[in-house]
Amino acid sequence: MQTVHEPARKLPIIGEYDVIVAGGGPGGLTAAIGAARAGAKTLLVERYGFLGGMATAGLVGPILGVKARGSDEPMIGGVTEEFFRSMESMGQAGPYEESVSRGGIPFNAEGFKLMADTMIEDAGVALRLHSVVADALVEDGRITALVLESKSGREAVVGKVIIDATGDGDVVARAGAGYTKGRDADGAMMAMGSMFHVGGHDGSVEVTTEQQEEFKRTVREAIDAGELNLYNPAIGGKGSTRSPGMMSANVTRFAGDCTDTETLTHAELQVRRDSWDALNFWREHHPAMTNAYMVQTPPNVGLRESRQMVGLDLVTGKDMTDARRRDDAVARAPYWIDIHCPLGRVKNETHLCYKSCPNDPPCPMYEEHYEDLPGEDGTPNGPEGRRLLYPKDGLWADVPYGALVSADIENLLASGRCISMDHQAMSAVRVMGTCMAIGDAAGEAAAMAADGDGNARDVAASELQERLRANGAAC
Ligand SMILES: Cc1cc2nc3c(=O)[nH]c(=O)nc-3n(C[C@H](O)[C@H](O)[C@H](O)COP(=O)(O)OP(=O)(O)OC[C@H]3O[C@@H](n4cnc5c(N)ncnc54)[C@H](O)[C@@H]3O)c2cc1C
Repeated sequence: MQTVHEPARKLPIIGEYDVIVAGGGPGGLTAAIGAARAGAKTLLVERYGFLGGMATAGLVGPILGVKARGSDEPMIGGVTEEFFRSMESMGQAGPYEESVSRGGIPFNAEGFKLMADTMIEDAGVALRLHSVVADALVEDGRITALVLESKSGREAVVGKVIIDATGDGDVVARAGAGYTKGRDADGAMMAMGSMFHVGGHDGSVEVTTEQQEEFKRTVREAIDAGELNLYNPAIGGKGSTRSPGMMSANVTRFAGDCTDTETLTHAELQVRRDSWDALNFWREHHPAMTNAYMVQTPPNVGLRESRQMVGLDLVTGKDMTDARRRDDAVARAPYWIDIHCPLGRVKNETHLCYKSCPNDPPCPMYEEHYEDLPGEDGTPNGPEGRRLLYPKDGLWADVPYGALVSADIENLLASGRCISMDHQAMSAVRVMGTCMAIGDAAGEAAAMAADGDGNARDVAASELQERLRANGAAC
């Protein structure tokens, strides 16, 4: 590849902080609020003009990971609980207790943005929108500054402790810290895929079970014939919209590495096209969707998996199904190993990647690394099989503090979906309720580290747990 030389230059330092959080998604939001409330001078940097990450830029919902299967015990608390109780009182999220006991909190993506603005401002977090964290400068195993790229040019911010909540581990990568990508066998990552909002669903039209089945069969046939590129024959649910007549659909998928910009570009185009194809098909074939219309495709294609920071500790898929407990637990992960086919396949009856996948056409993973697939031999496809991919009923896997701490850079923590975990654990821990709970912990820990000399490894897990519990967090 040909190269050009970029001359070195001095950058203006536009601020100095105790804690800088890169990325304002579910994992970054609660981290910034938690750090500021714990007394740290905190900056939150976000590349878009609004906060929320996949909850808003991806129109993803509902909030999952909020309770253990087979139990009503909440798995979230602290800032996360406050966030959704406040959204409920604004009429922007489902009733808190009822939603948690159902296992998911539906909300309005626009309300999420407003609540995020409000809580960030109330907590006294300094906010810098429209700013990409473009680089991390490192000296002696410590990040000394982050480089921001924006309309204002290239600028630097200095922070004692840095939290990477970019979802994709951008700070980790730019700082030269260790990270992994995808599954061990071939590095393939869960497929991307967008949720989109559709209006005009007519709830007054009664759709019989037979009609529903007939509709699904028709979609399946179109998928098998290659006329539709959808993995899911359903029209969707309320997800990240609470408005009458609106649906939030989760049917598309695109395989590839979402840290590669060319792949991302193809994904945006393909997934948008597939979303429109789905809508047009539904209008023709679903009795309640005759007058359906596209309200919005998301500003950013849905991103599931990319870089995982190499941490002092690691959460594994086995930890999830064993419901492993940890002495340094800082959050609870009750969701199941929900791996969206990394090959982006849409034809198989299941969208899961596990031992019971119908494996048609033959899958290299299935043929060469069968033992690495989650689940068990002969596991039935469907809900019964799925049950085996959850922590046992009423239980959860603990997220240990060590999985938030970089193994390489002493003042670097991760929050949200880019913490230290393997591919299987990632597919469970990535849900937004869990990411927000991890953010609670990352923010509090960063403030504690900033009180000392900024070394995240020096934070005493027992004191962190005490502080989190005092704030109402579940850990
Ligand atoms: C199609 C799909 C469906 C899903 N369904 C659900 C669901 O129903 N329920 C559920 O709970 N979870 C669901 N998830 C998972 C969930 O949405 C994500 O795992 C979760 O949002 C991760 O939170 P995060 O904060 O770690 O990362 P993200 O939500 O990705 O947020 C990262 C933030 O960082 C910002 N950012 C990134 N890079 C930079 C940079 N260099 N500089 C500055 N800012 C940066 C981004 O703009 C973004 O705001 C789904 C995901 C997808 C893709």
